[in-house]
Amino acid sequence: MPIATINPATGEVLKKFDPLPPEQIDAAIGRSVSGFRALRETSFDQRAAWMRAAADLLEAEQDDVGRLMTLEMGKTLTAAKAEVVKCAKACRFYADNAEGFLADEPADADAVGALRAYARYQPLGPVLAVMPWNFPLWQAMRFAAPALMAGNTGLLKHASNVPQTALYLGELFARAGFPEGAFQTLLVGSDAVEHILSDPRVRAATLTGSENAGRSIAAVAGRELKKTVLELGGSDPFVVLPSADVERAAQVATTSRSQNNGQSCIAAKRFIVHTDVYDRFVDAFVAAMSALTVGDPLLDGTDVGPLATEQGRDDVEAQVADAVAHGASVRCGGQRGDGAGWWYPPTVVTDLTPDMRMYAEEVFGPVAGVYRVESVEEAIKIANGTPYGLGSNVWTSDAPESERFINELDAGAVFVNGMVTSYPQLPFGGVKNSGYGRELSAAGIREFCNLKAVWVG
Ligand code: NAP
Repeated sequence: MPIATINPATGEVLKKFDPLPPEQIDAAIGRSVSGFRALRETSFDQRAAWMRAAADLLEAEQDDVGRLMTLEMGKTLTAAKAEVVKCAKACRFYADNAEGFLADEPADADAVGALRAYARYQPLGPVLAVMPWNFPLWQAMRFAAPALMAGNTGLLKHASNVPQTALYLGELFARAGFPEGAFQTLLVGSDAVEHILSDPRVRAATLTGSENAGRSIAAVAGRELKKTVLELGGSDPFVVLPSADVERAAQVATTSRSQNNGQSCIAAKRFIVHTDVYDRFVDAFVAAMSALTVGDPLLDGTDVGPLATEQGRDDVEAQVADAVAHGASVRCGGQRGDGAGWWYPPTVVTDLTPDMRMYAEEVFGPVAGVYRVESVEEAIKIANGTPYGLGSNVWTSDAPESERFINELDAGAVFVNGMVTSYPQLPFGGVKNSGYGRELSAAGIREFCNLKAVWVG
């Protein structure tokens, strides 16, 4: 992929960048090491002050950086600005909580024959972060805020279609006061990742992206014996049972499937509906998906903009065509938009069967697949019946039924009567092919730490 800003609403190339040459990559890794030496000597209070300054900058600059994101990947300006504000909140969350999350953990000294015994969290060093374009600021911030508060340094290889957002991030933390080398953007293609991760000075890596990228990075990290966190794809189930508030479920389903123009890893993608409420749910869902305003993402009132890349639009189109060819019904949408840009409308597809690609694959666009089920058992079977296990949603007002889904869904998150969302306060991550490791909460900041056992006699 070229490193370039291409407006997905028009297909126009706005700016191109040359990838960083090897000697500049090498120098950046060197700065990351010296930045790490400087950062690990600073106090939590000092880092928290810088992190709060980064939050202030984000809030003050939300209009400009929001617009940049919209131009680079097509999300609505309203959503882009909300993303900037969410990032500022995450900065403040880790500024407030990092020291408590990483406090020494006392152990029973008598039991191990010591005067004092405890475990201490220490930073690992430079960490490579390979990030996707769909939430260009938030995905990177989920790594950056906890990593920097722990005393690690970051090297960001962002997706090639969001280079200007990547450059903004590369300057943000330095402007907020963090030492030189604490957080840097490397404008490189994915072909440079193996070289960077193989460098002995880089201690670990985190990737948010596709399964393929995950396998590739995990293979290099395995060979080099480096810790990784992988946040990969998802095809989240959204189960609606007879006791649910069906109209509310249909509204939230619409938001979940269409947010970020349908390109969210934790969007509900498969709607599994009990036969008793199937027609009511599908009618309300189709009506709400059809009523969304598709158009210029810079305008107020637009709900859904273009897909971020031409390839992404073509992939979604091919998945829907495959389902239709195998007998699925399209209840709304289903035809790509005309003209320039990479448009695909909100679409609802029913009558899915296991021979269709949509049954097991992630659909990264505003396309919902709906399944009719006769029982709770069948709902759980279909919900768990993909290679993914990221988020999951269940709608019921029956407490034992809800408990059953909480226990039996193979997923990194279960939201009951609500929409899967990432919050700094809750761990975020997946099981199965959705990856491993956790971001956010206390778990996220501990991922890139050495938990050192200390025994003092
Ligand atoms: P992608 O192609 O995997 O790209 C993500 C990042 O990985 C980009 O920086 C990309 O660089 C890089 N990359 C791609 N192939 C690579 C390889 N073989 N080796 C090293 N780096 C590589 O992902 P995408 O298709 O743009 O993003 C959508 C996917 O991300 C979806 O599957 C979505 O569900 C997933 N996602 C997961 C989460 C989560 O938290 N679990 C969050 C958001 C998105 P280039 O841009 O230069 O190719």
